[in-house]
Amino acid sequence: SLLFPTRLRVIQHAFPDRSSYRAWLLEDGFRSHFTDPRALEHTSSPFVWFGTGEDATHPPSSDCIHSYLGGHDATLDWCRQFMAPCEAVAEELQMVDDGHKPDHGYDYDLVVIGGGSGGMAAAKEAAALGARVACLDFVKPSPAGTTWGLGGTCVNVGCIPKKLFHAGSLLNEAILQDSPAFGVQIASEMHANEVSTKVQWPVLRENIQNYIRSLNFKYRVRLREKDVTYLNKLGTFKNAHTIEAVDKKGRSSTITSSRFLIATGGRPTPLSCPGGDLAISSDDIFFMEQSPGKTLCVGASYISLECAGFLAGIGLDVTVAVRSILLRGFDRECSDRVGKYMEDHSKVKFRRGVVPSKLQKQENGQIEVTFSDGSTDSYDTVLAAVGRTADTEKLGISSLGIKVNSKNQRILGKYEQTDCPNVYAVGDVLDDTPELTPVAIQAGIKLARRLFGGSKEPMDYVNVCTTVFTPIEYSCVGISEDDAISKYGEDNVEVYHSEFLPLEWSLSNARSHSSAFAKIVCEKAEPQRVLGIHYVGPNAGEVMQGYGVSMRQGLTYKQLTETVGIHPTCSEEIVTLSITKSSGEDAAAGGC
Ligand code: FAD
Ligand code: NDP
Repeated sequence: SLLFPTRLRVIQHAFPDRSSYRAWLLEDGFRSHFTDPRALEHTSSPFVWFGTGEDATHPPSSDCIHSYLGGHDATLDWCRQFMAPCEAVAEELQMVDDGHKPDHGYDYDLVVIGGGSGGMAAAKEAAALGARVACLDFVKPSPAGTTWGLGGTCVNVGCIPKKLFHAGSLLNEAILQDSPAFGVQIASEMHANEVSTKVQWPVLRENIQNYIRSLNFKYRVRLREKDVTYLNKLGTFKNAHTIEAVDKKGRSSTITSSRFLIATGGRPTPLSCPGGDLAISSDDIFFMEQSPGKTLCVGASYISLECAGFLAGIGLDVTVAVRSILLRGFDRECSDRVGKYMEDHSKVKFRRGVVPSKLQKQENGQIEVTFSDGSTDSYDTVLAAVGRTADTEKLGISSLGIKVNSKNQRILGKYEQTDCPNVYAVGDVLDDTPELTPVAIQAGIKLARRLFGGSKEPMDYVNVCTTVFTPIEYSCVGISEDDAISKYGEDNVEVYHSEFLPLEWSLSNARSHSSAFAKIVCEKAEPQRVLGIHYVGPNAGEVMQGYGVSMRQGLTYKQLTETVGIHPTCSEEIVTLSITKSSGEDAAAGGC
């Protein structure tokens, strides 16, 4: 009764451990009713304070206040870190009345534009909830002329071909570098005391493409089974309830719908320097008939480093042009370890602080690249991986009042709602969300449930695990050490780390000088909430997924290290981390 019981209840429910925290909401004007801070002391638990307006900046002083979070937004951010979906956030989720009525009279309840990860997931879920749904998917050829089937980026030109090329390159490396130490000899090489390999690009490419074609087919079947009408057509808005749909032959039709979902993803940003059109992108690399040969990868994030990694792993001469740093936004120490391994072990060359300033075709078919420092070199292939731009320019959304971020053309919106009440957006096309397949899928499913299933659960974009599939993989969940320090201050952050030799590398001469690395970033104050987990080593994606679950439950250092490990694995390093960075002790001092 003292403190706005309704909101108090909501916030209390947001805490994983109700007994150890209490939350109090101080609304504008409440301060006048709040006469005695000792009134709060009837609870033995520490509690968290937040407020709005003037009270947000002037919390009352009381010993029993455990921590002051700041205002409303800061509190919601904090709640999101602790629990998802957090009821406090759910309460915030005010779905705009988009005018949808059962007897709307349009052709469909929902038309999804884009049949990639997010669009297909939303379409199937909405149809399963009884909605009449159509899904348009149309692939505009890349500037180099490449095109593909249903399923979007992930299946055709993203995660799937990338991971299979990566797997092929790891296999090649394992045969070349590890197999001799395990006594494995390739039959035809038994007489020579050395293993050599040659990866046949056309075979690898063809097998991967066949697999992808089988997935394209399965997706069509699944849409049909779920009663989603699949249209291989390009959609453009005419008004808020009508799109024009144009097929491959240029035939046009009109489709109306009560609601629309934009899930059109993104496309590679082209190189803007003179001759930039000679460069291919990730939309083309997986389709090349012959090996790319000596390759320059431009860019230093996920796509460039992953492609550089698998090309080097299958034996090609690879250079990466790094404009500034590797893997912007990731933990600096871990990113640098990825770069060092690629340089030392995979023999990838890094040209740091340069960008291509001109590309020119030579008579021998190679591309001569002039770099910003004036140096030149020639390559068989130049792969531009300098970011992705949302495919919204020709969607006709500006006439609906839908705003985009001018830097990347991604749609602006909260809770997947655009500025037009009956038009929604998920996946890579939505600004300020991680460009990852599982994110697009989950956001699509949750949106469909809110639109057609009465759900109020928002998509939670916090603590999403991710993995960079470089020759030494890097996975993480939560924030980097760098971000933790800038957010909480160096004195309030504790880092536990360990550098170790994965057991499976220990026999191999080629690998025994390399090391894997694990680190957790925690709040220094008890109960040492874990802010981020980072791992650089074999099978990183497999290692991190489970930790992601515990991060969503508000994991603490004690809970982590009280978990019994699985021996002998790399993952157990994370539950046994004990050396703090602040101790100055060598990270290589731990380990079994
Ligand atoms: P998309 O999958 O891009 O689908 C959009 C679809 O809409 C496309 O088929 C497009 O042709 C179609 N379309 C566009 N405009 C129209 C229109 N007007 N009418 C009809 N159809 C239209 N993510 C991971 O989680 N893990 C990874 O390992 C990973 N690796 C990647 C590797 C590469 C090389 C790339 C490029 C991306 C990778 N990603 C990865 C990211 C992942 O692929 C994307 O986040 C995901 O595909 C986004 O899904 P989406 O539904 O938003 O869009
Ligand atoms: P990013 O936007 O992540 O990175 C772009 C890179 O290109 C940066 O290194 C940037 O450097 C550099 N760059 C930008 N402009 C130029 C230029 N003009 N000349 C030279 N370099 C330039 O893009 P990506 O294409 O790598 O990836 C897009 C998204 O796809 C990722 O964010 C990720 O979410 C998703 N993805 C996920 C994968 C996974 O889950 N494993 C794999 C691949 C992609 P600078 O730092 O200086 O800005």
